[in-house]
Amino acid sequence: MADDQAQVQQTTDRVIEQYLHYVNPGLAKLLKFMGFDTIEAEAYGAVVRGLDDREFLDCLGGYGVFALGHAHPKVIAAAHAQLERMPLSARVLFDQPLAELAAKLAEITPGELQYSFICNSGAEAIEGALKLARLATGRTQFVAALEAFHGKTLGALSASGRQVYKAPFEPLVPGFTHVPFGEAKALAQAVSDETAAVILEPIQGEAGVIVPPDDYLPAAREICDRHGALLILDEVQTGLGRTGELFGCQHWQVIPDIMTLAKALGGGVMPIGAFISTARIWKVMEPNPLLHSSTFGGNPLACAVALAAVEVIIEEDLPGQAARTGGYLLGELLKLADASGGAIKQVRGKGLLIGIEFDSDDFAGLVIAGLAQRNVIAAYTLNNPRVIRLEPPLNITREQIDQVLQALAESIKQMQELLA
Ligand code: PLP
Repeated sequence: MADDQAQVQQTTDRVIEQYLHYVNPGLAKLLKFMGFDTIEAEAYGAVVRGLDDREFLDCLGGYGVFALGHAHPKVIAAAHAQLERMPLSARVLFDQPLAELAAKLAEITPGELQYSFICNSGAEAIEGALKLARLATGRTQFVAALEAFHGKTLGALSASGRQVYKAPFEPLVPGFTHVPFGEAKALAQAVSDETAAVILEPIQGEAGVIVPPDDYLPAAREICDRHGALLILDEVQTGLGRTGELFGCQHWQVIPDIMTLAKALGGGVMPIGAFISTARIWKVMEPNPLLHSSTFGGNPLACAVALAAVEVIIEEDLPGQAARTGGYLLGELLKLADASGGAIKQVRGKGLLIGIEFDSDDFAGLVIAGLAQRNVIAAYTLNNPRVIRLEPPLNITREQIDQVLQALAESIKQMQELLA
């Protein structure tokens, strides 16, 4: 037993050293500082087990990837079956998993969204959406939201709205104007007949989980229509059940011209992304079908997995589970906020995309460390470090949610005592 422990410690030290020397020294220090100095070894459902047998409750869900939890058996089975048959495409024959996934996405997405391009990540989906908007409109101007997060490739970063990630890489792609999220008036002023598209998250995730006023997305739709601009809705984080509806835009019955998906689409097993649009808009891709392409994009392994993931999301009513469990969690967090002596400024969100805003970045950081000590994985939102996001698997149980709530209450109390 002692030998085993020594072995685990040796492996842990080696991996951290490798991070320090070969991966990213800053990241290694950050993870250690937050108390995550365990090597992840295996995971199932909402539980991640470390090499040292420590078990964590996963409330970050890989930044929203694990809607189905870790290693959902139906998705793992689909992966195994496709892996043995043909994991990657020969690229010139017809590919059944790709075709079936595209047909399924047409079936489940709202309105006339019909054609899909399958890629490998959220940022890639955004790049494709921006290119399609330029091509379909012949225009080059975009309007996006301040504090938005759309990914970190150059085009996606240009659409994003936080200077700290953008400034070091300027000049970025020209033509992007940013306006405050949730303010229809500012959007109306920024959009013109030169605008190719407005790009928005239905609920801003990395900005700190910001739910817009109810009239915002309908107004955005109307403003785009008035100017012949397209509406791109980035559902990379909000899509596929996370917010308590299958798609975030369905809270307001707004249908985009282009939708982007990633994260949960991979069922917690494969990286995959997609941008989806209507037949009318897709026409511009027809003359040269290789105008936009990706070697790995749409590969059979990822598509077979995504198809199984979508089936599970619907069969197990994960949007409904997210709505119910999220409603309970939000209610309990509001009580915790009332009892927090002002440490929690606000709690907000929809479904199981919930943000807890603290009165400072530092306090939020300490609470994350307190949660780690109590074996709960959480993190702050990338564009607002004062907000801890809770994004657990959509099928997390009530008991597990209660454990998280208790860990949170204890962490807040501990940090308040520490700072008193
Ligand atoms: N769009 C949104 C709304 C996101 O939250 C993210 C990632 O967090 C992205 C795009 C980028 O996705 P990826 O990290 O897969 O490139």
